[in-house]
Amino acid sequence: MAQDSYKICPTCNFFCHINEDKNYCPFCGQKLITHCPRCGAPITFPYSKFCEKCGTRLRVTDQPLEKVQHKKD
Ligand SMILES: [Zn+2]
Ligand SMILES: [Zn+2]
Repeated sequence: MAQDSYKICPTCNFFCHINEDKNYCPFCGQKLITHCPRCGAPITFPYSKFCEKCGTRLRVTDQPLEKVQHKKD
C-alpha cells in the first residue's frame, strides 16, 4: 500500500499533496518541503509541525492549525 505524503510550507499552514505541481507556497512564497531536512523522512501528515521520525521542527509557525480548519467570520 502506497503511503500518501505531502508538501508543506515551513512558515505557514499551507500544504498540498506530493503529486501536486507546486514548488512554492502560494501564500508566503516559501519553498515547500517534501521531506524532513534532517533525516529525509517523507511528510505523511499534512499538519505536522515536527518530523515523526527524528523530532526536527518542520514548521516555524506558531499559528494554531485549527485556525485554518475552523474559520469564523
Ligand atoms: Zn506558506
Ligand atoms: Zn526527521
